[in-house]
Amino acid sequence: MPTLKEKPAEAEVKSHELLLRAGMIRSFAAGIYTLLPLGGRVLEKIEEIVRQEMNRAGALEVVLPTLHPGDPWMCSGRWLEYGPEMMRLKDRQGREFCLGPTAEELMTLTVSRTAPSYRDLPVNLYQIQTKFRDEIRPRFGLIRGREFRMMDAYSFHADEKDLEVTYEAMRAAYLEIAKRCSLETRVVEASTGLIGGKESHEFMVVSEIGEDVLVYCPACDYGANAELEHHKPARQFGGSESAALEEVHTPGMVSIEDVAGFIGTTPESVLKCVLYVVGTEILAAFVPGYREVSESKLARALGTEDFHVMRDDERALFPAVTPGFTGPVGLDGVRVIFDEEVKGARGMVTGANKIDYHYRGAEEGRDFKAEPVADIAGPVEGDLCASCSGELKVTRGIEIGHIFKLGLKYSDVLDANFTDVDGHPKPMIMGTYGIGTSRILQTVVEQHHDKGGIRWPAAVAPLPVHVIVIATEGGGQPEAARKIALELAERGMEVLLDERDVSPGIKFNDADLVGLPVQLIVGKKLPASGEVELKIRYTGERRDLPVDQATGGIERALEEAQ
Ligand SMILES: [Zn+2]
Repeated sequence: MPTLKEKPAEAEVKSHELLLRAGMIRSFAAGIYTLLPLGGRVLEKIEEIVRQEMNRAGALEVVLPTLHPGDPWMCSGRWLEYGPEMMRLKDRQGREFCLGPTAEELMTLTVSRTAPSYRDLPVNLYQIQTKFRDEIRPRFGLIRGREFRMMDAYSFHADEKDLEVTYEAMRAAYLEIAKRCSLETRVVEASTGLIGGKESHEFMVVSEIGEDVLVYCPACDYGANAELEHHKPARQFGGSESAALEEVHTPGMVSIEDVAGFIGTTPESVLKCVLYVVGTEILAAFVPGYREVSESKLARALGTEDFHVMRDDERALFPAVTPGFTGPVGLDGVRVIFDEEVKGARGMVTGANKIDYHYRGAEEGRDFKAEPVADIAGPVEGDLCASCSGELKVTRGIEIGHIFKLGLKYSDVLDANFTDVDGHPKPMIMGTYGIGTSRILQTVVEQHHDKGGIRWPAAVAPLPVHVIVIATEGGGQPEAARKIALELAERGMEVLLDERDVSPGIKFNDADLVGLPVQLIVGKKLPASGEVELKIRYTGERRDLPVDQATGGIERALEEAQ
């Protein structure tokens, strides 16, 4: 438990700082960590919860290699698709290998090589394993590491209906895991990305350090990530009545707020233009002035991720556009795309494609046509739920789990068949499910801490009880503390016994920092009144107890903490 007083320079977020300071983790290189004894215990507890819930959901544990031969990955096409994120190596014969980032290929072959029949299905296999991903930007400690721990499960089915049953069981198991780890979690619709398949859900813990934007409706449980979310605008974009198109001199007015203020209107009436370079072409993307372009939605609409916002040094390449003053009226020879909300809008302020000029009164359909149109704008606070019209919440989240209905993606390319009831071979239908156990470890700290340190929920705490000995001359504290520790151990409670020869202040600070649920202080009250002091870390509540009632008091406090 090598605790640190100062914040280490490498710590970017609170949970990372606390894990380092509490002596639970240490880094060897960017995104590569050692778990010290206390950190290792937490991971073990989390993985045991995951194991119990997977077993309950009918999955069976296996252990696949972390060192994957390249062949299966080449068969699926992902050897190339994965690019530099995959850690690759060669053996002494020059054969290709990788350190597994995920295991669809290996698990599919594991099952298909048993030549299953319809009677053997469904089968759902999982492993809790170390995974590797050569992240371009490892950060936030265990949140985005290059080597990390993860549970990944893979289910195999004869038909879609059967996949649906397992998918729902896994979804319920994931929610139970999150609940047992004291993580409040939202399930959101997500895209399938490199894993592939047709439907997927992410399990998100709402947190400001989250790398993903999510949208959810507290009224009806609708939720989706930024790429897939649908929202209903609360207000109408543009004016309510038609107006004549009129050119306005707007010297130096480039930002939406400046233009709106100068003309005497609001961003709800200004058409925003963002210029992108797509391949070698310029693209003008138009969204309502009070929204941002969602680049993940734009990627879906364009069918490519190969684009970026036009840089200043690229202006000369695209003389057809006037940065800061680009509008759809009279914009010729430039590729455009419009957000759905622009369709039918009237009384808009738009760029006039002339330096220092805007239009007001622009009207879609009359002055320009919003073609092509797509859902390319991001959500804002106040947007309404498309299903129930409740007010949506827009927030950031940490993704702790992700489940996918894969369908036939891997079965087709890897010839993973089963023999059906009619005797014919058919490809197995698959689902895949991942939950990050080392990421959960840090996410729990991110959600459960105060200025003194970590506040572990009892279910995942490294140990339940921290006994702090403050010895006074002839006070009998060490003996009493060891007796209590033994009694607790006999009742199955693990104890951290702090008998170090350091000042009481250091012991108290360390106890709060490492954050075990219950602290028992065996100090100067013992010789004075025969009492010990119990402190509940989460609430800070303190109770004095006669020394012979210490174990019972701790048991009660732990029950309350569940
Ligand atoms: Zn709703």
